[in-house]
Amino acid sequence: MLGNGSKVLIPDRGFDGVVIYTGRLKGSFLEGNILIAESGSPIGELISISIKHNLSGLESLVGIPGSIGGAVIMNAGTRYGSIGDIVETVEFINSEGTYIVKSSPYFEYRGSEFRGERVVLTRVTLRLKGASSDEIREKLSLAVLLRKNQPKYPRQFGSTFKNPPSMSAGRLIEEAGLKGFTYRNVQVSPVHANFILNFGNSADDIYYVINTIQDRVYRLFDIKLEPEVNLIGF
Ligand SMILES: Cc1cc2nc3c(=O)[nH]c(=O)nc-3n(C[C@H](O)[C@H](O)[C@H](O)COP(=O)(O)OP(=O)(O)OC[C@H]3O[C@@H](n4cnc5c(N)ncnc54)[C@H](O)[C@@H]3O)c2cc1C
Repeated sequence: MLGNGSKVLIPDRGFDGVVIYTGRLKGSFLEGNILIAESGSPIGELISISIKHNLSGLESLVGIPGSIGGAVIMNAGTRYGSIGDIVETVEFINSEGTYIVKSSPYFEYRGSEFRGERVVLTRVTLRLKGASSDEIREKLSLAVLLRKNQPKYPRQFGSTFKNPPSMSAGRLIEEAGLKGFTYRNVQVSPVHANFILNFGNSADDIYYVINTIQDRVYRLFDIKLEPEVNLIGF
């Protein structure tokens, strides 16, 4: 399954299988405070719709690239809130081909009950809240501020690793001496060590850097960093 592809890494040799891309499964509508969106709908478009109708709930996701389906799989968000906080129902097809409407699905830090499962998310229902435009604007500016210290160029996938409980993955990578580490055209960001910058065109090189980080952090601190990025087919 591929949404916007913002959080996947696929080997240079390619992927031996069928890829379902949800880019054309777009569209959304409002029923009062409830926003119903097809799974390929871009997060940014849904945020714009909610702002236009003075509805609050999605502001913390501003600047996160991707589709709403990918966001639900990953429980995308920031310290101000994650998509799981406002999901009412998720509609999906399971591996037996059964269409299921699931109310109040389970979410955890950068994950959901759907992550790693063989499912096709088709539609998501979000419960938003009426709010004044000032309130919404304030929440948006806080969320935008968070992005100030994050590298924007070149291509990357946001945070590479999940933060271990009450620790910062970026700090551990930095303490392991890997901030700025460069392998071929791939660099651990000198600004924020949990970001990997791709100046080239090789997923295998990025994978090498991911492994190097995991090995070094494990050797030094006995901590296994878990990738936040979805490594498909490695
Ligand atoms: C610059 C940048 C900044 C980012 N900042 C943040 C951030 O602040 N917070 C955060 O949480 N994330 C962040 N991300 C990561 C990413 O944007 C989110 O994880 C986003 O939700 C991924 O959506 P996507 O559509 O691109 O999913 P994809 O990358 O396409 O897919 C992600 C996973 O979901 C699965 N999937 C996608 N759609 C479906 C579907 N319809 N049915 C079943 N499975 C599906 C895929 O198989 C894959 O396993 C950032 C990424 C970038 C590049």
